[in-house]
Amino acid sequence: MTAPATVTPRSSAELIRAEEPVLAHNYHPLPVVVAHAEGVWVEDVEGCRYLDMLAGYSALNFGHRHPALIEAAHRQLDQVTLTSRAFHNDRLAGFAEGLAQLTGLDMVLPMNTGAEAVESGIKVARKWAYEVKGVPADRATIVVAGGNFHGRTTTIVSFSDDPTARDGFGPFTPGFRVVPYNDLAALEAAVDETTAAVLIEPIQGEAGVVIPDDGYLTGVRELTRRAGCLFIADEIQSGLGRTGTTLAVDHESVRPDVLLLGKALGGGIVPVSAVVACREVLGVLRPGEHGSTFGGNPLSAAVGSAVVDLLATGEFQRRAAELGEVLGSGLAALTGKGITGYRARGLWAGVDVDPAIGTGREISERLMREGVLVKDTHGSTIRLAPPLTITQEELESALASLAKVLA
Ligand SMILES: *Cc1c(COP(=O)(O)O)cnc(C)c1O
Repeated sequence: MTAPATVTPRSSAELIRAEEPVLAHNYHPLPVVVAHAEGVWVEDVEGCRYLDMLAGYSALNFGHRHPALIEAAHRQLDQVTLTSRAFHNDRLAGFAEGLAQLTGLDMVLPMNTGAEAVESGIKVARKWAYEVKGVPADRATIVVAGGNFHGRTTTIVSFSDDPTARDGFGPFTPGFRVVPYNDLAALEAAVDETTAAVLIEPIQGEAGVVIPDDGYLTGVRELTRRAGCLFIADEIQSGLGRTGTTLAVDHESVRPDVLLLGKALGGGIVPVSAVVACREVLGVLRPGEHGSTFGGNPLSAAVGSAVVDLLATGEFQRRAAELGEVLGSGLAALTGKGITGYRARGLWAGVDVDPAIGTGREISERLMREGVLVKDTHGSTIRLAPPLTITQEELESALASLAKVLA
């Protein structure tokens, strides 16, 4: 064994300063440097503890280092971690079977990041449009919603309407039509014989947890069926227990043709994403037409299977639904007392802070000093999305901290 190099431990402030010249400035993190985490708690370099009310944008739905997930990863590390899809691996069949069963769909295309799942969904929908629907070559369109967030690749930012995400990154990929979210008439008007798919988030996370009216998802389902195009639901953030059901579309008992999953699918350990779809759609792909070196690797498949097993118990969905009541009533009590409004479903809320009290960023910094980590979005909105393993007491203490910083 080689002796560990002696390094002088660096403070949080030193580490933050050290990042500045060597790390791209594409984020503006809160000034907390996490060195350890367990469950809903993270600990910084100095040993201060914080309640994680962001949970990696829902990548940590099961908390940090959930024992069942860590065990699955450890076990797999001692077997085989990467094969590439040039060969089969003994974990992939079980992962795909479990995910298909959990979602009620037929087939799985394993990828890694959320953006890759979205890109893959777009490619599959276009191929389906040409081969099954009969759209003339290179004419396929995909209808998306304003305020969307589907990731950061060049094609995906091509249909974003957020100037920060787009400006300076053109030229953009054609073939997308943007209509207002939660507007079935606008959607109906945008869909035509070239439309391969309607791609929406059942709840818009980055936009500030924007929840459409009851009936919207049912309307999208009926409209797309009538128009003979696909319904693609991006559940990368809304899915896998967050809203009190396995999927956000379950609130209206709607089954999309294509489901995009990511974030929590990797259990907070490895990036795992997937396109899950009916056979008629994913069946259009043939060998060589799409792929990923890391997609479906045995480590990811083992962790993904363990995630599916946790969700199959229904416990996390139930917790999100029950504790969502606590979250909702806590936020209702604060309305008019520092918050001007909120939108919540399950353990997920977008909270509009009274701009007179501070920006979302300022409130996030004040909450950090109270030992609670959240993230702001769009000016004066903060987003609450704790691990689904949070206890009622912990949730109530986070709400008490919020009340304190708003007072
Ligand atoms: C986070 C997110 C993505 C992109 O996922 P990455 O893993 O960051 O590429 C796509 N869609 C939605 C709805 C998301 O929340």
